[in-house]
Amino acid sequence: MSTVDALMLRLQELKQERRAIILAHYYQRDEIQDAADFVGDSFGLSQQAAATDAEMIVFCGVHFMAESAAILSPDKIVLLPEPKAGCPMADMVDIVGLRAFKAEYPDAAVVSYVNTTAAVKAESDICCTSSNAVRVVNSLDAKRIIFTPDRNLGRYVAQHTDKEIIVWEGYCHTHDHLTLEQFEQIKAEHPAALSVVHPECRPEVSAAADFVSSTAGILKFVRESDATEFIVGTESGILHQMKQQNPGKTFYLASPKLICPNMKANTLAKTVQALENMQPCITVPEDIRIKAVQALDRMLAIK
Ligand code: SF4
Repeated sequence: MSTVDALMLRLQELKQERRAIILAHYYQRDEIQDAADFVGDSFGLSQQAAATDAEMIVFCGVHFMAESAAILSPDKIVLLPEPKAGCPMADMVDIVGLRAFKAEYPDAAVVSYVNTTAAVKAESDICCTSSNAVRVVNSLDAKRIIFTPDRNLGRYVAQHTDKEIIVWEGYCHTHDHLTLEQFEQIKAEHPAALSVVHPECRPEVSAAADFVSSTAGILKFVRESDATEFIVGTESGILHQMKQQNPGKTFYLASPKLICPNMKANTLAKTVQALENMQPCITVPEDIRIKAVQALDRMLAIK
Protein backbone atom coordinates (compact mmCIF):
# COMPACT_ATOMS: atom_id res chain seq x y z
CA MET A 1 0.00 0.00 0.00
CA SER A 2 1.39 3.45 -0.89
CA THR A 3 1.99 6.06 1.82
CA VAL A 4 -0.85 8.19 0.47
CA ASP A 5 -3.26 5.21 0.56
CA ALA A 6 -2.20 4.36 4.12
CA LEU A 7 -2.75 7.96 5.23
CA MET A 8 -6.14 8.07 3.49
CA LEU A 9 -7.18 4.87 5.29
CA ARG A 10 -6.05 6.14 8.69
CA LEU A 11 -7.84 9.42 8.05
CA GLN A 12 -11.12 7.62 7.38
CA GLU A 13 -10.73 5.56 10.59
CA LEU A 14 -9.97 8.64 12.68
CA LYS A 15 -12.83 10.55 11.12
CA GLN A 16 -15.30 7.87 12.27
CA GLU A 17 -13.74 7.63 15.74
CA ARG A 18 -13.79 11.39 16.30
CA ARG A 19 -17.09 12.05 14.52
CA ALA A 20 -15.23 14.58 12.42
CA ILE A 21 -15.86 16.26 9.09
CA ILE A 22 -13.04 17.35 6.78
CA LEU A 23 -13.59 20.63 4.94
CA ALA A 24 -11.10 21.63 2.24
CA HIS A 25 -10.69 24.74 0.14
CA TYR A 26 -10.28 24.43 -3.63
CA TYR A 27 -6.67 25.66 -3.22
CA GLN A 28 -5.62 22.69 -1.07
CA ARG A 29 -3.32 19.92 -2.31
CA ASP A 30 -5.03 17.37 -4.59
CA GLU A 31 -4.87 14.50 -2.08
CA ILE A 32 -6.44 16.65 0.65
CA GLN A 33 -9.29 17.58 -1.69
CA ASP A 34 -9.75 13.85 -2.42
CA ALA A 35 -9.89 13.03 1.30
CA ALA A 36 -12.35 15.82 2.18
CA ASP A 37 -16.07 15.45 2.87
CA PHE A 38 -16.67 18.82 1.26
CA VAL A 39 -14.49 20.88 -1.07
CA GLY A 40 -15.54 24.46 -1.69
CA ASP A 41 -14.86 28.16 -1.70
CA SER A 42 -14.95 30.34 1.41
CA PHE A 43 -18.71 30.84 1.17
CA GLY A 44 -19.58 27.16 0.72
CA LEU A 45 -17.18 26.19 3.48
CA SER A 46 -18.72 28.74 5.88
CA GLN A 47 -22.16 27.30 5.15
CA GLN A 48 -20.92 23.77 5.81
CA ALA A 49 -19.18 24.82 9.04
CA ALA A 50 -22.39 26.47 10.25
CA ALA A 51 -24.63 23.52 9.34
CA THR A 52 -22.63 20.40 10.21
CA ASP A 53 -23.67 18.11 13.07
CA ALA A 54 -20.18 16.58 13.29
CA GLU A 55 -18.43 17.02 16.64
CA MET A 56 -15.14 18.09 15.12
CA ILE A 57 -14.21 20.10 12.03
CA VAL A 58 -10.83 19.58 10.39
CA PHE A 59 -10.38 22.73 8.34
CA CYS A 60 -7.94 22.28 5.49
CA GLY A 61 -7.51 25.88 4.50
CA VAL A 62 -5.85 28.88 6.14
CA HIS A 63 -6.17 30.34 9.64
CA PHE A 64 -9.01 32.82 9.02
CA MET A 65 -11.15 30.03 7.56
CA ALA A 66 -10.71 27.79 10.60
CA GLU A 67 -11.37 30.81 12.79
CA SER A 68 -14.63 31.47 10.91
CA ALA A 69 -15.65 27.85 11.53
CA ALA A 70 -14.89 28.31 15.25
CA ILE A 71 -16.97 31.52 15.25
CA LEU A 72 -19.92 29.83 13.56
CA SER A 73 -19.74 26.54 15.50
CA PRO A 74 -18.51 27.38 19.02
CA ASP A 75 -19.58 24.00 20.40
CA LYS A 76 -17.29 22.11 18.01
CA ILE A 77 -13.57 21.42 18.06
CA VAL A 78 -11.97 23.08 15.01
CA LEU A 79 -8.58 21.80 13.88
CA LEU A 80 -6.20 23.44 11.40
CA PRO A 81 -3.58 20.84 10.35
CA GLU A 82 -0.80 23.44 9.92
CA PRO A 83 -1.30 26.27 12.44
CA LYS A 84 1.18 28.50 10.59
CA ALA A 85 -1.01 28.45 7.47
CA GLY A 86 -2.03 32.09 7.56
CA CYS A 87 -3.26 34.49 4.89
CA PRO A 88 -0.92 37.45 4.33
CA MET A 89 -3.84 39.50 2.98
CA ALA A 90 -5.88 38.92 6.15
CA ASP A 91 -2.91 40.25 8.15
CA MET A 92 -2.87 43.50 6.13
CA VAL A 93 -5.74 44.97 8.18
CA ASP A 94 -5.92 45.21 11.97
CA ILE A 95 -8.43 46.75 14.34
CA VAL A 96 -6.29 49.80 15.14
CA GLY A 97 -6.08 50.74 11.45
CA LEU A 98 -9.70 49.87 10.80
CA ARG A 99 -10.93 51.97 13.74
CA ALA A 100 -8.93 54.95 12.45
CA PHE A 101 -10.45 54.44 8.99
CA LYS A 102 -13.95 54.25 10.48
CA ALA A 103 -13.35 57.52 12.35
CA GLU A 104 -12.45 59.18 9.03
CA TYR A 105 -15.67 57.95 7.37
CA PRO A 106 -18.24 57.80 10.20
CA ASP A 107 -21.20 57.43 7.83
CA ALA A 108 -19.74 54.40 6.04
CA ALA A 109 -20.71 50.77 6.63
CA VAL A 110 -17.82 48.32 6.93
CA VAL A 111 -17.81 45.28 4.67
CA SER A 112 -14.98 42.88 5.39
CA TYR A 113 -13.97 40.06 3.14
CA VAL A 114 -13.93 36.78 5.08
CA ASN A 115 -10.14 36.92 4.60
CA THR A 116 -9.80 38.85 7.87
CA THR A 117 -9.08 38.02 11.49
CA ALA A 118 -11.92 37.43 13.96
CA ALA A 119 -11.07 40.77 15.61
CA VAL A 120 -11.54 42.64 12.31
CA LYS A 121 -14.80 40.80 11.63
CA ALA A 122 -15.96 41.91 15.08
CA GLU A 123 -15.34 45.55 14.01
CA SER A 124 -17.27 45.09 10.74
CA ASP A 125 -20.95 45.45 9.92
CA ILE A 126 -21.01 42.46 7.59
CA CYS A 127 -18.67 39.99 5.92
CA CYS A 128 -18.56 38.94 2.29
CA THR A 129 -16.82 36.41 0.09
CA SER A 130 -15.79 36.84 -3.52
CA SER A 131 -18.99 35.02 -4.56
CA ASN A 132 -21.39 37.41 -2.81
CA ALA A 133 -19.43 40.68 -2.38
CA VAL A 134 -21.54 42.68 -4.86
CA ARG A 135 -24.80 41.36 -3.39
CA VAL A 136 -23.65 42.11 0.16
CA VAL A 137 -22.68 45.69 -0.70
CA ASN A 138 -25.92 46.31 -2.60
CA SER A 139 -27.98 44.92 0.31
CA LEU A 140 -26.83 47.70 2.65
CA ASP A 141 -28.65 51.00 3.26
CA ALA A 142 -25.41 52.97 3.59
CA LYS A 143 -24.29 54.95 0.53
CA ARG A 144 -20.61 54.70 1.47
CA ILE A 145 -18.83 51.44 2.12
CA ILE A 146 -15.43 50.80 3.67
CA PHE A 147 -14.25 47.61 1.98
CA THR A 148 -11.44 45.61 3.62
CA PRO A 149 -8.88 44.23 3.03
CA ASP A 150 -8.63 43.39 -0.70
CA ARG A 151 -8.21 46.44 -2.93
CA ASN A 152 -8.68 44.37 -6.09
CA LEU A 153 -11.97 42.79 -4.99
CA GLY A 154 -13.03 46.20 -3.64
CA ARG A 155 -12.41 47.85 -7.01
CA TYR A 156 -14.23 45.01 -8.78
CA VAL A 157 -17.24 45.57 -6.50
CA ALA A 158 -17.08 49.33 -7.15
CA GLN A 159 -17.68 48.61 -10.84
CA HIS A 160 -20.89 46.74 -10.00
CA THR A 161 -22.58 49.11 -7.55
CA ASP A 162 -23.75 52.72 -7.32
CA LYS A 163 -22.31 52.99 -3.82
CA GLU A 164 -19.07 54.76 -3.02
CA ILE A 165 -16.46 52.14 -2.14
CA ILE A 166 -13.56 53.22 0.06
CA VAL A 167 -10.96 50.56 -0.48
CA TRP A 168 -8.42 49.28 2.02
CA GLU A 169 -5.07 48.78 0.27
CA GLY A 170 -4.57 45.07 0.99
CA TYR A 171 -3.98 42.40 -1.62
CA CYS A 172 -3.26 38.73 -2.17
CA HIS A 173 0.37 38.20 -3.22
CA THR A 174 -0.57 35.08 -5.17
CA HIS A 175 -3.19 36.74 -7.38
CA ASP A 176 -1.78 40.26 -7.45
CA HIS A 177 1.55 39.23 -8.93
CA LEU A 178 -0.13 38.34 -12.27
CA THR A 179 0.51 41.29 -14.58
CA LEU A 180 -1.51 42.32 -17.60
CA GLU A 181 1.57 41.72 -19.75
CA GLN A 182 1.88 38.08 -18.57
CA PHE A 183 -1.84 37.60 -19.00
CA GLU A 184 -1.88 39.01 -22.54
CA GLN A 185 1.07 36.83 -23.44
CA ILE A 186 -0.59 33.58 -22.38
CA LYS A 187 -3.80 34.67 -24.12
CA ALA A 188 -1.80 35.22 -27.32
CA GLU A 189 -0.25 31.74 -26.94
CA HIS A 190 -3.72 30.13 -26.69
CA PRO A 191 -6.03 32.25 -28.87
CA ALA A 192 -8.87 29.69 -28.80
CA ALA A 193 -9.00 29.59 -24.98
CA LEU A 194 -11.48 31.50 -22.82
CA SER A 195 -9.86 33.27 -19.87
CA VAL A 196 -11.32 33.01 -16.37
CA VAL A 197 -9.92 34.90 -13.39
CA HIS A 198 -10.59 35.53 -9.71
CA PRO A 199 -11.43 39.13 -8.67
CA GLU A 200 -8.38 39.12 -6.36
CA CYS A 201 -6.40 39.67 -9.59
CA ARG A 202 -5.41 43.20 -10.58
CA PRO A 203 -8.27 45.28 -12.09
CA GLU A 204 -6.55 45.47 -15.49
CA VAL A 205 -6.24 41.66 -15.56
CA SER A 206 -9.91 41.21 -14.61
CA ALA A 207 -10.89 43.73 -17.30
CA ALA A 208 -9.02 41.70 -19.92
CA ALA A 209 -10.59 38.37 -18.88
CA ASP A 210 -13.63 36.69 -20.45
CA PHE A 211 -15.09 35.82 -17.05
CA VAL A 212 -14.44 37.01 -13.48
CA SER A 213 -15.81 35.14 -10.46
CA SER A 214 -15.15 33.27 -7.25
CA THR A 215 -13.63 29.79 -7.46
CA ALA A 216 -17.09 28.18 -7.29
CA GLY A 217 -18.32 30.60 -9.98
CA ILE A 218 -15.34 29.83 -12.22
CA LEU A 219 -15.90 26.07 -11.86
CA LYS A 220 -19.58 26.46 -12.79
CA PHE A 221 -18.74 28.63 -15.79
CA VAL A 222 -16.17 26.13 -17.09
CA ARG A 223 -18.58 23.19 -16.59
CA GLU A 224 -21.37 24.94 -18.50
CA SER A 225 -19.23 26.42 -21.27
CA ASP A 226 -19.02 24.89 -24.75
CA ALA A 227 -15.39 26.03 -25.02
CA THR A 228 -12.74 23.34 -24.66
CA GLU A 229 -9.70 25.41 -23.61
CA PHE A 230 -9.36 27.79 -20.66
CA ILE A 231 -6.70 30.08 -19.24
CA VAL A 232 -7.09 30.01 -15.48
CA GLY A 233 -6.17 33.06 -13.38
CA THR A 234 -6.50 31.78 -9.85
CA GLU A 235 -4.59 29.50 -7.46
CA SER A 236 -3.38 26.25 -9.01
CA GLY A 237 -5.35 23.97 -6.63
CA ILE A 238 -8.54 24.70 -8.57
CA LEU A 239 -7.19 22.71 -11.52
CA HIS A 240 -7.77 19.45 -9.61
CA GLN A 241 -11.55 19.89 -9.52
CA MET A 242 -11.59 21.46 -12.99
CA LYS A 243 -9.89 18.48 -14.58
CA GLN A 244 -12.08 15.98 -12.72
CA GLN A 245 -15.27 17.81 -13.69
CA ASN A 246 -14.26 18.40 -17.34
CA PRO A 247 -12.28 15.42 -18.67
CA GLY A 248 -12.46 16.62 -22.30
CA LYS A 249 -11.25 20.18 -21.65
CA THR A 250 -7.74 21.67 -21.47
CA PHE A 251 -6.52 24.17 -18.87
CA TYR A 252 -3.56 26.55 -18.83
CA LEU A 253 -2.59 28.21 -15.55
CA ALA A 254 -2.14 31.92 -16.34
CA SER A 255 1.18 31.94 -14.44
CA PRO A 256 3.27 29.19 -12.80
CA LYS A 257 3.45 31.44 -9.73
CA LEU A 258 -0.27 31.11 -8.99
CA ILE A 259 0.53 28.94 -5.97
CA CYS A 260 -0.31 30.02 -2.42
CA PRO A 261 2.36 28.60 -0.09
CA ASN A 262 0.04 28.98 2.89
CA MET A 263 -2.71 26.92 1.30
CA LYS A 264 -0.15 24.26 0.42
CA ALA A 265 1.24 24.15 3.98
CA ASN A 266 -1.39 21.60 5.01
CA THR A 267 -0.47 18.03 4.07
CA LEU A 268 -2.26 14.71 4.34
CA ALA A 269 0.19 13.60 7.05
CA LYS A 270 -0.48 16.77 9.08
CA THR A 271 -4.22 16.24 8.66
CA VAL A 272 -3.94 12.70 10.08
CA GLN A 273 -1.74 13.98 12.89
CA ALA A 274 -4.22 16.73 13.74
CA LEU A 275 -7.01 14.18 14.14
CA GLU A 276 -4.79 11.80 16.13
CA ASN A 277 -3.76 14.54 18.59
CA MET A 278 -6.94 16.65 18.36
CA GLN A 279 -4.82 19.74 17.83
CA PRO A 280 -3.82 22.37 16.67
CA CYS A 281 -7.18 23.59 17.85
CA ILE A 282 -8.37 27.04 16.72
CA THR A 283 -10.40 29.05 19.22
CA VAL A 284 -11.74 32.60 19.35
CA PRO A 285 -12.23 34.55 22.62
CA GLU A 286 -15.97 34.68 23.37
CA ASP A 287 -16.18 38.50 23.53
CA ILE A 288 -14.76 38.74 20.00
CA ARG A 289 -16.73 35.74 18.74
CA ILE A 290 -20.13 37.13 19.67
CA LYS A 291 -19.46 40.30 17.70
CA ALA A 292 -17.80 38.54 14.76
CA VAL A 293 -20.61 36.00 14.41
CA GLN A 294 -23.07 38.82 13.73
CA ALA A 295 -21.06 39.95 10.70
CA LEU A 296 -20.89 36.37 9.40
CA ASP A 297 -24.55 35.60 10.13
CA ARG A 298 -25.64 38.75 8.27
CA MET A 299 -23.67 37.56 5.26
CA LEU A 300 -25.08 34.03 5.43
CA ALA A 301 -28.63 35.44 5.58
CA ILE A 302 -28.22 37.17 2.19
CA LYS A 303 -29.55 35.03 -0.62
S1 SF4 B 1 -4.54 32.64 -2.07
FE1 SF4 B 1 -4.22 34.74 -1.37
S2 SF4 B 1 -6.07 35.28 -0.28
FE2 SF4 B 1 -6.05 33.02 -0.46
S3 SF4 B 1 -5.03 32.33 1.42
FE3 SF4 B 1 -3.43 32.54 -0.12
S4 SF4 B 1 -2.66 34.64 0.25
FE4 SF4 B 1 -4.63 34.53 1.27
